[in-house]
Amino acid sequence: MTDPLHYEVIVLGAGVSGIYQIKRLVDLDIPAIVLEADEDLGGTWYRNRYPGARFDSESYTYGYSFSREVLDEWHWQERFSAQPENLHYLNFVADKFNLREHMRFNARVEEMVWDESTRQWHLKLTSGETCTARFVVTGIGVLSAPTPPRYPGMDEFRGDSFHTYWWPKEPVPLEGRRVGVIGTGATGIQVIAEIADKVGELTVFQRRPNWSTPLNNSPISAEEMADIRKRYDEIFANCALSPNGFEHVPDRRGFHNLTREARRAFWDELYASPGFAILAGNFPEIFLDEAANREISEYIADRIRQRVHNPETAEKLIPRDHGFGTQRLPLESHYFEAYNRDNVHLVDITEAPIERITPTGIQTADAHYELDVIVYATGFDAITGGFDRMTIQGTSGQTLRDKWCDGPSTYLGILTHGFPNLLMVAGPQSVSGSTNFPRAIEGGVNWVTDLLEHARTNHISRIEAQPDAEEAWVEEVVQAHERLLARRSRGWFTGYNSNVAGHEAGKVRYQAYFGGGPKYAATLEAAAAGSYAELDMS
Ligand code: NAP
Repeated sequence: MTDPLHYEVIVLGAGVSGIYQIKRLVDLDIPAIVLEADEDLGGTWYRNRYPGARFDSESYTYGYSFSREVLDEWHWQERFSAQPENLHYLNFVADKFNLREHMRFNARVEEMVWDESTRQWHLKLTSGETCTARFVVTGIGVLSAPTPPRYPGMDEFRGDSFHTYWWPKEPVPLEGRRVGVIGTGATGIQVIAEIADKVGELTVFQRRPNWSTPLNNSPISAEEMADIRKRYDEIFANCALSPNGFEHVPDRRGFHNLTREARRAFWDELYASPGFAILAGNFPEIFLDEAANREISEYIADRIRQRVHNPETAEKLIPRDHGFGTQRLPLESHYFEAYNRDNVHLVDITEAPIERITPTGIQTADAHYELDVIVYATGFDAITGGFDRMTIQGTSGQTLRDKWCDGPSTYLGILTHGFPNLLMVAGPQSVSGSTNFPRAIEGGVNWVTDLLEHARTNHISRIEAQPDAEEAWVEEVVQAHERLLARRSRGWFTGYNSNVAGHEAGKVRYQAYFGGGPKYAATLEAAAAGSYAELDMS
């Protein structure tokens, strides 16, 4: 890149959002480029190569809906497709539309400064290169800032160790080796279940257990795929009507209108159903009403007890500090059965905390565990972490990191006052974190693209959210959040992360909009239909 280059639009990130965003811009002939920090496209599906990484959305609801040709040509092999196929899919889409030629890889932006006099963003890359853009659209994902723990001695470990996000591209030999996994969120649960029968010894260091229910994955035959192709319009229409962006719809019969036996029989069906049926197809009351939540939590606890042979281990795997569905639910394949194996050991690190990583393993308060491999499945500085890792300086000289130090504040999850011409796809306080991701980002990309087209048609070079409009949206986000039993849960939905200063338990960051996909889509539509009256444009 010669210094400085100018684009009408710079898109940050070549993941699910960035690929679709550049497609729309190219189609409209808007001069644009994608800057991607990694050496290739794919975002989440490029990075997370750990064993067991796969969708927990039905594959055919996760794929893009925008191209009939892609829908007709692509065959999803599994109902919940695994990482290699997902990455292959994103490459297939990008190559089909020649999108790579509009992408720059190994291009990590470290600083963006708004220049009011020229109405441009000045971007600086970690390589020292610079460029300018009228508009910057971020597609940096909601889970792209991994957070390893902060134990002393981590650099001294002599075996292999990595955060799951950085799982190496070359195969990691596990056979016969002693592997330790720290973390039992969605990632840890996938890794543990996948490697339990492949490693010598597996020791799981669990701080808080998570509720988890079966994924119930299965292959998709050619006949089933043909049927799915015929149903695509209906599938996407169903997703658009459901609060979470899935085909599953909440059961409105009324929790309290059914007997306890009828509820348990219904949950038996849901437990055997694929994907998020048990969450998105359940009674809405379980998320709102303490008694309803207690009952489903007891039901799921019983299922864990049935599956784990050792009663003491089973009790350790049952969460006590939060109810079912009040943190992001991990879906599993034979996870609980892993603990019935002789080579799998569960260490409760609330009883005996980890003190340090040693050159040969992990030292807890009461034992030393000799290990060859340590896997940190310790999660992400979610939603705002990707923004915080760049210095983004707006109109007043304030950085976005400072503006959002106590939690994000946005207009519709897409703009934020003081940072003109910065448009966020899958931004904080949108529904992207709280629903089936691609379904939400397609709506976000379309809205942003329409806005950019409106700007071009009307010779607008500066767009900024009005402070009142932003305040009103934040209030709506807070209200939607506070309705839920999840409102004080310790998970990434509330901004909790024990490894990031300011994100510890006890304080809520309103990071995601929980009003549901349909309401969010209607809000976006109304904003556009009202000629963007809540934006200052000149
Ligand atoms: P996570 O849900 O935040 O879980 C992190 C785990 O690490 C928790 O069990 C946490 O324990 C533990 N942990 C963190 N720091 C620790 C420390 N210093 N010492 C000991 N334990 C520590 O992260 P994740 O599992 O990576 O999942 C994040 C999100 O990614 C998911 O919720 C999901 O949205 C997405 N994901 C999706 C899929 C999929 O199926 N498509 C798969 C994987 C991930 P505490 O709870 O005690 O802090």
